[in-house]
Amino acid sequence: MQDINYYLFKIVMLGDSGVGKSNISTQYLQNVFNVESKSTVAMIKIQLWDISGDEKYRSLIDTYCSRAMGALIVYDITNRTTFENVEWWLKEFRRSYIDPNNVVIMLVGNKTDIADRRQVSTEEAKSFAERENLLFMETSALCATNVEEGFTNVLTQIYHNVT
Ligand code: GDP
Ligand code: MG
Repeated sequence: MQDINYYLFKIVMLGDSGVGKSNISTQYLQNVFNVESKSTVAMIKIQLWDISGDEKYRSLIDTYCSRAMGALIVYDITNRTTFENVEWWLKEFRRSYIDPNNVVIMLVGNKTDIADRRQVSTEEAKSFAERENLLFMETSALCATNVEEGFTNVLTQIYHNVT
C-alpha cells in the first residue's frame, strides 16, 4: 500500500523581455512530475507564472514572486545585456521573497541553437551561478533542449527542501 502526496509548487519566470521566457514556459507542457521513494509517491504540479519583463510591470514583481518556491532567471546567451541584468532580477526576487534561503533559483542561458552568436560564455555564467548559489543550465526553447531537464532539477531540489 502506497501513500500518495500531492504538492503544488509555484515557480516564476524572470528575466528581460525577449530572452525566451514564454517559449520556455509553453515548451514545458508536461507539468506533472512524479517523485518516488520507498513508500511514497509524490505528485508534483507546477504553477508556472510567466511574468513580463517590461519596465512598466516591474512594480508588480513583489506580487508575482510572493510565495514562489522557485524561480528561473532567464537570459539570452546572444545578448550580453540580458546577462548583466540577471543581477537585478536576482536582487528583486530575493528582496521580494520572505525566505530567500529556502527557494530554488536556476539561472537559465537560453537560445543555444544560435550559439554562433554567443556573447556570454558557459564558464562565465557557470561561475556566476556558483558564486550566487544558483542552479545553472543552458537551454534552447526552440529545439526543446534541456527545458524538461531544467524544470526537473528545480522541482527535485524544491521537493528535497520541503520534505
Ligand atoms: P520573453 O519576452 O522572455 O517571454 O521571450 P519570448 O519567449 O517571447 O521570445 C522572444 C523571442 O525570442 C521570440 O521571437 C522567440 O521566437 C525567440 N526565442 C525564444 N526562445 C528561443 C530559442 O531558444 N532560440 C531562438 N533562436 N529563439 C528563441
Ligand atoms: Mg513573454
